[in-house]
Amino acid sequence: MRVLITGGAGFIGSHLCDHLLSNGAEVICMDNLLTGTVQNIQHIRDGRFRFIEYDVTNYIYVDGPLDFVLHFASPASPIDYLRLPIHTLKVGALGTHKALGLARSKKARFLLASTSEVYGDPQIHPQPESYWGNVNPIGLRGVYDEAKRYAEALTMAYRRYHGLDTKIVRIFNTFGPRMRRDDGRAVPTFILQALKGEPLTVFGDGSQTRSFGYITDLVRGIERLMHSDLGGPVNIGNPQEMSVTQMADEIKRITGSRSEIVTKPLPEDDPKVRQPDITLARERLGWQPEVDVREALRLTIEWFMATEAGS
Ligand code: NAD
Repeated sequence: MRVLITGGAGFIGSHLCDHLLSNGAEVICMDNLLTGTVQNIQHIRDGRFRFIEYDVTNYIYVDGPLDFVLHFASPASPIDYLRLPIHTLKVGALGTHKALGLARSKKARFLLASTSEVYGDPQIHPQPESYWGNVNPIGLRGVYDEAKRYAEALTMAYRRYHGLDTKIVRIFNTFGPRMRRDDGRAVPTFILQALKGEPLTVFGDGSQTRSFGYITDLVRGIERLMHSDLGGPVNIGNPQEMSVTQMADEIKRITGSRSEIVTKPLPEDDPKVRQPDITLARERLGWQPEVDVREALRLTIEWFMATEAGS
């Protein structure tokens, strides 16, 4: 199997590279290193791995056959997409178009990394794939949410109009080793604050909920979807919902930190609740999360501590 992963030097993309290589695939990783880094892939010594530094909003050329195009390129954390609003829209629109075009020309299957953010600030809880969402298109976060909604629409158009074999995964908050320390997402931010003995900054009153999944569970779910006959969209996430304050408390407990929890104003359009309905993934992919959130936090904290010296 020969696979192209756009965004392959990012957090999720680099874990996918590792996983697919270990299962015998040949992997081409394409990334412009905008929010990802070569450090995420520099441990890979496999001769079946190739890295191409390239911006996928431009025409994509890859020599030889391809069985899969996995489109993961996109800024993904609020800090990144708020500072890169136009690029975020471009990679969701132009990048997805180029990646779909490549898949079509190679007669490859295509998988889009979409997001639970397509549900916006949801009025249905938990969120099934059939829910159309509640997104503010002109709000600050609209650049990410609408880029992904457009990317889903484009993927479905290629499926219906060109008969391309496509898959859409809606990824819920996922964490693990290789997250950027300064990406502003709750888990790495709390971990670093706790390790440094600084106050943990919670947005709003901290009662908003998230469902946090672990990277190895996500990668397993993506692989199941790749090899299924399901087009999706399919939610992949951990339904174990917790408030942001509970997450902060848990990280304090595991690190043994005495840091206090302080609050900051809630960002615009911050979703109040988030929980995946994973019935479809359970029934059609035989997938469900296996790593408990506390164990996942322990593994992630260990990684942050081990790599602290090099940061
Ligand atoms: P990340 O920022 O670590 O990875 C994204 C990668 O895309 C980076 O390596 C970046 O350099 C690359 N990239 C951006 N624009 C590019 C371009 N024009 N050309 C080539 N490469 C480009 O983020 P991540 O958390 O690994 O997210 C990966 C994908 O998964 C994204 O599409 C994101 O929307 C989706 N996702 C992630 C989460 C999560 O919890 N991490 C949740 C939902 C969806």
